[in-house]
Amino acid sequence: MFPSNRDINLDEITKRCVMCGRCQAVCPVYASSSTEDNCARGKIRLIEKIKNNEYDFDDYIKGAINRCVACSACQDACKNDVNYIDLIAAGREMMNESAGEPLIKKLALSRFAERDETEQISRYGSVINKIFNRKDGAGSGIRLKFPIPGVGDGMYIPPLAESAFQEKQGGTHGAKNEWMRVVFFVGCSLSFILPEIAESILEFLVSSGITVIVPPDQVCCGTPHYLSGEPDTANRLLWKNRDAFAEYKADAVITGCPTCGGGLKDYYDLKDKDGKHLPVYDFVEFISKYRRKLKLPELSGDGKYTWHDPCHLYRLQKIKDEPREILRNLLSDRFVEMEKPASCCGFGGVFAASNIPTALDIAKKKSDRIKQSGAVTVVTACPGCVLFLRIGAAANTGTYNVIHLSQLLNSKFKI
Ligand code: SF4
Ligand code: SF4
Repeated sequence: MFPSNRDINLDEITKRCVMCGRCQAVCPVYASSSTEDNCARGKIRLIEKIKNNEYDFDDYIKGAINRCVACSACQDACKNDVNYIDLIAAGREMMNESAGEPLIKKLALSRFAERDETEQISRYGSVINKIFNRKDGAGSGIRLKFPIPGVGDGMYIPPLAESAFQEKQGGTHGAKNEWMRVVFFVGCSLSFILPEIAESILEFLVSSGITVIVPPDQVCCGTPHYLSGEPDTANRLLWKNRDAFAEYKADAVITGCPTCGGGLKDYYDLKDKDGKHLPVYDFVEFISKYRRKLKLPELSGDGKYTWHDPCHLYRLQKIKDEPREILRNLLSDRFVEMEKPASCCGFGGVFAASNIPTALDIAKKKSDRIKQSGAVTVVTACPGCVLFLRIGAAANTGTYNVIHLSQLLNSKFKI
């Protein structure tokens, strides 16, 4: 279950912080705007003072609590085991209870909360695309005709899929010579924003002898709601997913989104029809574990590739060496490392929607390092990172592709 602030000992967490500043040195938000309220230790002190009734949630404090991409870099760097992620989720929950959520966050999260709402997104996706995605440019007639509040140069609203992946591909996809059965947890980004990645995961697994079940009734994993201070909604979604997955017999769960995977591993206990516990694998982890049984392609050509570590894969799930081993095996010395490959891309789910200048600044810094690596393709494992690395490239005249690992492995995908 996702914890609420009532389950977390906030005093115990805040007392652990000795103000050493290690968290400040690694924080991407602090690197963009160097004030104390933009790093973990500053937010810890603010939450402590709110908890002790010394401060109220005024606009300054609400802004500070919202200005965090939840990348966990601070928690990873902290030597005092300060559980910052649970603390910021609890702080946001207290803020929602006392002051309500910002409208943009509320809209973004509520749209992904329920099955019937996700169906509405599909239904209206084509209309939304026609209005907002015909042209993308500050001088376009569309932008002048329909200004989008809060959306500035360099940012765009990605096109929405006109039907959710689980609506289109719901059911069982049997493999010839089946040696494993998995349930595919799709997640919102792969359902609506980048369904071609979900297609490439599905096709790669089935062609490798793995039967893939796509429960049509699955909903958002709830992690974005938890991190935004809505643990009750997150837990409602958790129970819906548990019920949806318990209808099938399987060996494991696979996801192509590290935020979903981190949430499923840390807060769920998914069981199959027989009540058997289902282990959860990120796609990268699965490929690494079963690489000898899978049909991995031979990749010819001469362009260089680099790897971007998604925060929730690298820090939440500690999957660090596996993607590098896969890429070195496939690409040999065409795989090159960029500087700081595990630094955040700037997305952070609703963070990018409500902190656009900071998100774009982080994305541009990342883009500079990608360009310096000389790579023509960035491979990663998170749909949110794919999307935001592309936005970073567009905002920084980057001339590289960004793909999900499944698209590198899928021979149908042209590189
Ligand atoms: S690294 Fe840990 S102990 Fe040090 S200031 Fe940050 S949260 Fe506090
Ligand atoms: S989670 Fe990331 S963005 Fe938030 S305070 Fe920690 S390092 Fe900074």
